[in-house]
Amino acid sequence: MIKLITKTEDFIHLRQTIKSPSGFVPTMGNLHQGHLSLVKEALKEYDFVFFSIFVNPKQFGPNEDFNRYPRTLDQDMRLLTDLSFHHPHKEIIVFAPENPNEVFGKENDINISSHELGTILEGAIRPGHFDGVVSVVYRLFQLVKPTTAYFGLKDYQQCLVIDQMVQEYKLNIKLHFMPIIREDSGLALSSRNQYLSIDEKKEGLILSQTLKEIMSIIDYKKSNLNKAQLRIKEVLKDNRWNYLELRDAQSLSPDIKNSHRITLLGVFQLRTTRLLDNMQMEIN
Ligand code: AMP
Repeated sequence: MIKLITKTEDFIHLRQTIKSPSGFVPTMGNLHQGHLSLVKEALKEYDFVFFSIFVNPKQFGPNEDFNRYPRTLDQDMRLLTDLSFHHPHKEIIVFAPENPNEVFGKENDINISSHELGTILEGAIRPGHFDGVVSVVYRLFQLVKPTTAYFGLKDYQQCLVIDQMVQEYKLNIKLHFMPIIREDSGLALSSRNQYLSIDEKKEGLILSQTLKEIMSIIDYKKSNLNKAQLRIKEVLKDNRWNYLELRDAQSLSPDIKNSHRITLLGVFQLRTTRLLDNMQMEIN
């Protein structure tokens, strides 16, 4: 079964009728297999899965793509309906509020801080972005009250910022982070990939290929980190990179001397489209 709800009031009403544990997948829509992998995981674990589609204005900067962000509710509903046919005993409840006031009412405005973690890397390039993300996720958590929420590691820093928010507010919600779904070429799936021409898509492969190359230089060994850093310096001479950085996988600190697990985060820009990717590795 699948249901679409577009009014917060209706959602609150329906939510009161469901007493079972539930999963929740928040998205901005324009669904692809990356989003669907999160729902599939939620459907494995819960009979009730909430799915939100909401292009959150708070997480876009003034010169970003809020207005042109692809809004494809009919197509998204077809994909989710297809999925629900394969899970006849489960219920998918799609919450797609029609306008921002449906989520952030005037008297109900919510501004949550992502603290320092939200000001580095992506946050340094997109000031306020992660505050917007944690604010909408906090509000959606209030409405949906899920047992477990699912997020993709595609947005690695976002996962850490949300984890921090859940701990700070002692929310009784489990977080489940899911691996990045990629095209066969290695390109991580993203709703923004459709801004790219065929040639740019090929050009964008540098991102995943470089991450793989650097990780293979490290090869699980701390002793290879210097060599990797030298290679990163070399790569960054190409100014299409916004950043490419090795960080501690938990704190995102650049000091990785004592790290056991590291993350390599990169953003490669083609015209106005910023492609994000990352990989993690245990090191000894
Ligand atoms: P978005 O609609 O871009 O806000 O993404 C909604 C959720 O889907 C977030 O938790 C993303 O991290 C996740 N997601 C987006 N792309 C992918 C991908 N290629 N693989 C796995 N998860 C993804």
